[in-house]
Amino acid sequence: MISKLNDDAIAKRIQAMTDRVSAIKRDDLYFYNQSISELRGGARVLVNGREMGMYASYSYLGLVGHPRINAAAKAAIDQFGTGTHGVRTLAGSLTIHRELEETIAKFKGAESAVTYTSGYVTNLTVVSTLVGRGDYVISDKLNHASIVDGCLMSGAKFLRFNHNDMEALENRLAQVPTGASKLVISDAVFSMDGDIIDFPRMVTLCRKYNAWLMVDEAHSVGVLGKSGRGIEEHFGLENTIDIKMGTLSKTIPSVGGYIAGKQDLIEFLRHTSRAYIFSAALPPAQAAAAKVAFEVIQDEPWRVEKLRANSNLFIRGLKERGFDTMLTKTAIVPVLCGEDEAAFAITREAQHEGIFVLPVVSPAVPPGLSRLRATVTAAHEPNEIEHAMDVIWKAGKQIGILS
Ligand code: PMP
Repeated sequence: MISKLNDDAIAKRIQAMTDRVSAIKRDDLYFYNQSISELRGGARVLVNGREMGMYASYSYLGLVGHPRINAAAKAAIDQFGTGTHGVRTLAGSLTIHRELEETIAKFKGAESAVTYTSGYVTNLTVVSTLVGRGDYVISDKLNHASIVDGCLMSGAKFLRFNHNDMEALENRLAQVPTGASKLVISDAVFSMDGDIIDFPRMVTLCRKYNAWLMVDEAHSVGVLGKSGRGIEEHFGLENTIDIKMGTLSKTIPSVGGYIAGKQDLIEFLRHTSRAYIFSAALPPAQAAAAKVAFEVIQDEPWRVEKLRANSNLFIRGLKERGFDTMLTKTAIVPVLCGEDEAAFAITREAQHEGIFVLPVVSPAVPPGLSRLRATVTAAHEPNEIEHAMDVIWKAGKQIGILS
């Protein structure tokens, strides 16, 4: 190893984080990166030999481990093996990739779709492909890190507007010089808060100012809309998003990301986006699992209804117990704790009582707004949710979040 100065900025950065993590571990407040050895239907998990109720999962419709999806993944391994031995453009494109993309396009009511190996990479590559120097990209201040990184990487003028504030968005749009290209980007459901973007007004503004609209549906597919098709279905505004982005790692129990949209947009991305051209394709088992998961959502519509009922029960119950759940309307339920220490402490109490829930602290959220970030899924039963809420309530009392 080359010897390094131990007091330069890099070393100091590493030391600062090491110290922070060590202090949290010393106080038995560290619950990140725990290994789960079994996903028992998704609502319960085995952690260090102990069964716990799972309240930190993105498997919103409880599809992880679904027999049809598992069988599809196994069959794909038998047919194709485990890797793709290359990029899609050259030798890595398999029939299962096309089948998945056709399924996504149909599900999202789009002409076509393209997939990438993660949701993170999808945002990074697509935003930085679509806009560049001389263009404007306008993004909600609470958008996911992958969107922010894509905007920064693009070289376009990066304008942000206050969270879900459509007046602020209009001010930004009005600020763009005439003739410049504009891309407006937003999460549909915000990953730390669970609230929903004011989509109808956003669509109206994009039309008024002739801006392209890209929406990240990571937390809205399977969650919003009567049949789980997402935010357009939720608001009855079909075919209003130009660039429909989503992940295959949450409701869809696989990994990957996609863009659905017009045929020419998708063909453009296939020939220009660097994550498609310069990175290996999705593994066949993951592509097959994702394809069948979209089919299961359509074949088992009760899951969307059950998720909605469970989310309402969870939000209502936590509010009734005295918690501030902020503006959530979905399965992501923040339980506001305030300082980081309070969020860590309530987590410890809940985890000790068998509830697997995790805190989100600064800088992921603003200082003073640290929280438990709990999720429910269609795999939970109402009595399990009631029990989890009682545990969280007791923990909140114990550490003084609730009086
Ligand atoms: N967008 C949003 C809104 C997300 O919450 C996430 C993941 N947390 C991503 C994109 C990235 O997706 P993936 O985990 O599939 O890379």
